[in-house]
Amino acid sequence: MFEITEVQAREILDSRGNPTIEVEIFAGEYMGRASVPSGASTGKREAVELRDGDERFHGKGVRKAIENIERHIAPRLIGMDVLQQRKIDLMLIALDGTPNKSKLGANATLGVSLAAARLASYLLEMPLYKYLGGTNAHVLPVPFMNVINGGAHAGNELSIQEHMIAPVGAENVREAIRMGSEVYHQLKSVLKKKYGPNAINVGDEGGFAPPMKDIEEPFEAITQAIDEMGYSDRVKIAIDSAASGFYSDGRYTVQGKEMSAGELMDIYEELVNKYPIILLEDPFAEDDWNAFMDITSKLGKRIEIVGDDIFVTNPELIRQGIEKKAANAALIKLNQIGTVTETIEAVTVAQRAGWKTLVSHRSGETADDFIADFAVAMNTGQIKSGAPCRVDRVEKYNQLMRIEEELKETAEYGY
Ligand code: PGA
Ligand code: ZN
Repeated sequence: MFEITEVQAREILDSRGNPTIEVEIFAGEYMGRASVPSGASTGKREAVELRDGDERFHGKGVRKAIENIERHIAPRLIGMDVLQQRKIDLMLIALDGTPNKSKLGANATLGVSLAAARLASYLLEMPLYKYLGGTNAHVLPVPFMNVINGGAHAGNELSIQEHMIAPVGAENVREAIRMGSEVYHQLKSVLKKKYGPNAINVGDEGGFAPPMKDIEEPFEAITQAIDEMGYSDRVKIAIDSAASGFYSDGRYTVQGKEMSAGELMDIYEELVNKYPIILLEDPFAEDDWNAFMDITSKLGKRIEIVGDDIFVTNPELIRQGIEKKAANAALIKLNQIGTVTETIEAVTVAQRAGWKTLVSHRSGETADDFIADFAVAMNTGQIKSGAPCRVDRVEKYNQLMRIEEELKETAEYGY
């Protein structure tokens, strides 16, 4: 047993310059530290991110959540065995007592949950992926790198939020990351030539945010960059439409044109037929379950249909999605649900049904690389952490290379 002796929390800045929480948990002289990310295109059923709403930081301060950690969580936590992650998380869930962590804040509970896991791994002198996943943790995930940003993450006119490249044909994660970086830089010169120097400014997740008007333009530029590198067999394309962001009253507004779910479905079908697309995330809005069911029955045999805002890493919503065949994969974001234990449950529920899972960063990130270890621990085979650019994004990819090195010949790459 390793008794928790002290808990500290503070306000730090995230990659967008907004405040977020950093937590330190101590067992004697040992300390585990973790910080919490923050989304911009959040699902409405996500666990609550507690913000102060006062004059500081345009209302985005997190002092209340920190106070919850210091006044309410710490007294319960001190004296507990840090190796009992599940017990710690169940305590957090019970202490909060709401279905969506609205009392303590999911940013408060997640910071504590992550820091506890990290401290436990230090105390056992075990890498985090091994502590969380055990001896079977060995799959290095395919990195889905967001190279063209739109939607809520960029100041351009693209409706689709994320256009990603996935080096599925790489031999290992180190090669995948190299290929991703090479395509990214090739894309930079493609964009510069075609759209001028302004086209290579980057958005929140490090991808380019070019002034494109037509929905097909990003796909044209990305396939050109992939082809020019000679990777057309090995690097594929994925998108996150984050369609809740351009949905209202049953209609979708895509590139300035209003349409029905059926018309948007036709666009996706055309894109999938024309470009090497292997995955569509949130193709429809979080409440449009019928459209999700429709696209899964039409395209679900050929490609991955991933639910993010629709399931919000909530095991119960994922169960409903499985029952209704509303997708064939779930996006996994720790801060959507608020504890490590519940996130593990979400992954397990999906995997048991034969669904894929895609572990994800948020658009507002910190240097914390927890998700890299988490993806390996859960053998998800897939991760998205933005472009191969900006420290908040690449630190996760760099950690995957470290893990691969450590696992040596026991590592496997891919799905
Ligand atoms: P967010 O975007 O972190 O801004 O919510 C990521 C996503 O939608 O997958
Ligand atoms: Zn998403």
